Amino acid sequence: MNVTVAAHPEPSAEEIQNVEQTSCCIVGGGPGGAMLALLLARRGVSVTLLEMHKDFDREFRGDTIHPSTLEILDHLGLAEKLHEIPHTKMTGPTIKFANGPFRPFDLGRLKTRFPYILMVPQVRFLEFITREAAKYPPFKLVMHANAQKLVEENGVVRGVRYAALDGLHEVRATLTVGADGRFSQIRRLAGFEPIKTAPPMDVLWFQLPKLPGEPEITGGAFGGIGHGRMLIMLERTGYWQSGLVFPKGQYQELRAKGVEAVRESIAQIEPRFARNAESLTDWQQLTLLSVESSRCPLWHKPGLLLIGDAAHVMSPVGGVGINYAIQDAVVAANVLTKPLLSGKVSESELAEVQRQREWPTRVIQSMQSFMQRNLIASALLAQEAINVPWQLRLFVRIPILRDIPARMIAFGIRRVRLKEV
Ligand SMILES: Cc1cc2nc3c(=O)[nH]c(=O)nc-3n(C[C@H](O)[C@H](O)[C@H](O)COP(=O)(O)OP(=O)(O)OC[C@H]3O[C@@H](n4cnc5c(N)ncnc54)[C@H](O)[C@@H]3O)c2cc1C
Repeated sequence: MNVTVAAHPEPSAEEIQNVEQTSCCIVGGGPGGAMLALLLARRGVSVTLLEMHKDFDREFRGDTIHPSTLEILDHLGLAEKLHEIPHTKMTGPTIKFANGPFRPFDLGRLKTRFPYILMVPQVRFLEFITREAAKYPPFKLVMHANAQKLVEENGVVRGVRYAALDGLHEVRATLTVGADGRFSQIRRLAGFEPIKTAPPMDVLWFQLPKLPGEPEITGGAFGGIGHGRMLIMLERTGYWQSGLVFPKGQYQELRAKGVEAVRESIAQIEPRFARNAESLTDWQQLTLLSVESSRCPLWHKPGLLLIGDAAHVMSPVGGVGINYAIQDAVVAANVLTKPLLSGKVSESELAEVQRQREWPTRVIQSMQSFMQRNLIASALLAQEAINVPWQLRLFVRIPILRDIPARMIAFGIRRVRLKEV
């Protein structure tokens, strides 16, 4: 496996240590970047993947592998292998309302080989994808590689300069892809300004232990709204990945009240989880994750393409960001493999990737925004447990309508398939 980890503790000199040539340089080894690297390398495109961290273990960002990604991996002959990694399966949350439990969608009814979301720790998933990519000689992964500068000639991006522990290096490439997530350095360096929406919420993430005799949750996930908070519990092997959602701007107030207030909120929303919440004794067990959502009007310029959160920061509502980043990667591979193999990528080919992916992104972001601004925000303002709107209960009883949300969660707005070239 071509993995380079620089050996010295500090960047030593300002000079470039070496200049490497490749067809495609991908910055960011998240789901989007790693998947694009795999897809290109298996088609013979030389690709260098730069990841700034020393490993793939990062703060919790969602561990959801959706049916559409599973279908793509199945196409590559990798789905069964992925299932060998310890996992849980989720078919849809059960949300507790004052007037009873409610399941907004059920993936179990979908016609697909994989009618569930596979919950695999993201670190294991990324290790799996890059291990598979490393089976193809054109693939190279450089860890500890922090991209800091675009190499540009006559207005065309020709690669990046990155800092490794032993100093500065340069990768020159026919195409540079910014897949470096929501705080994208490549987006900033390219001068792209994302349009922000302002979702009115933040999340505290933490783990709760599973306890003998605790409640069975249908569908592998629980949601509860009331008393100004929303509780999310995702079933994992041996623990619950949990989140407490609250209106933006309330963090300091919550912090001042201490971890007892978090335990109290959990017990108020779902008394059956009060015992699990007793394990929270220290604020250090909680991580604040700020919820954002934005999109770039333009995803490309000559020699450069943005994909995934770098092009469109996805809010965690609906848990679709990983799937969308992977779908961007699949479309990019479909459109750009031939041009990359021929050594020339035109701007119209880059524009075609944005054309295919922009409108599904805009539709889903509008829906996330609507849910955040209306349903979740108004639920968070209510001090009591609230009822599920009758219109929603009616919606999920109408056979022709009830599986639309499940299909959108599973496959996105537009089903993306891998094209062989
Ligand atoms: C609190 C929270 C919960 C979420 N939950 C879910 C969920 O349950 N399901 C879901 O589908 N989505 C979820 N999301 C959204 C999801 O995390 C993103 O949409 C998804 O990770 C985007 O993938 P990506 O590959 O574009 O970017 P990322 O996953 O962000 O990966 C970017 C990579 O680039 C690397 N990088 C950054 N800068 C540089 C640089 N200069 N040089 C080299 N490397 C660099 C980073 O280290 C990182 O590995 C959640 C997001 C948040 C904030």
